[in-house]
Amino acid sequence: MARTLLGVAGFPIAHSRSPAMQNAALRALGIDWLYVPVPLPPERFAGAVRALPRSGFRGLNVTLPHKQAAHDLADELSEAAAAIGAVNTLTFRDGAVVGDNTDAQGLLDALEEPVAGRRALVLGAGGSARAAVWALQGAGAAEVSVWNRTPERARELAAALGARHAERPQAADLLVHCTTVGLAATTQDEALAALGLAGMEPPATVVDLVYTAARTPVLGWAAAGGARAVDGLEVLMRQGARSLALWTGREAPLEAMRRAVRDAP
Ligand code: NAP
Repeated sequence: MARTLLGVAGFPIAHSRSPAMQNAALRALGIDWLYVPVPLPPERFAGAVRALPRSGFRGLNVTLPHKQAAHDLADELSEAAAAIGAVNTLTFRDGAVVGDNTDAQGLLDALEEPVAGRRALVLGAGGSARAAVWALQGAGAAEVSVWNRTPERARELAAALGARHAERPQAADLLVHCTTVGLAATTQDEALAALGLAGMEPPATVVDLVYTAARTPVLGWAAAGGARAVDGLEVLMRQGARSLALWTGREAPLEAMRRAVRDAP
């Protein structure tokens, strides 16, 4: 019988750390499945995904630029995927394609501290910001404010999910950085200026979804200000752990996944 497969679809996808992380997890669980990169240009995405179960695929992570297309093609959606309007995890079950979004719960898992009653500030208004706002609202944050370089997008996102639009970044207990600032090499001063954070003290906890080989400017700012910093690799690992649990029904081996995601080239 053909080997059971899992994968991650994106375009490009060669840079993804998910195969190293998920194969380490499968090994740690003693499950003889294989997790592979699936490069798919947008025009081939929907057709190819529908064909994957016939090739032995049980599930698929979905990353840029396909998260909305995955939402649109799913036969069933979890509550998170429907509310966020994006899917990062597909499960092929009994002929149906089931869409979920583990980015939201992965963020809360990575935080490892209560959100209820706290004021949260989300920077950005793209796909990951939407998942973050939904997650923080659902976890009972006292207030979720959204700031974005293009204010109309933050206004729209805030209105859609019942959050608050912030004209400029302001004091909070918790900050989640969801823009691409820091992905390309940039100085800390340039990054803070782009995000409207220049001259501000970091809140008690800072999460930066961006991950790079070196420490990101936002995490540098957080550390210098004595904040508790959670990096994007921890968030990546936690969303992957949730996906793996959906596919296998097993608890994910977090330490093996954490080691693999950090060691991956
Ligand atoms: P996206 O939908 O493309 O949104 C990009 C966001 O970045 C927008 O809010 C955009 O603002 C803002 N932005 C871009 N350039 C900017 C600049 N120079 N100054 C200020 N704001 C700027 O991206 P996404 O999918 O939300 O992802 C955002 C980041 O999170 C990426 O770095 C991605 O790799 C990372 N991410 C990490 C994980 C994880 O598991 N760690 C998961 C998802 C995403 P405008 O609206 O003004 O253009």
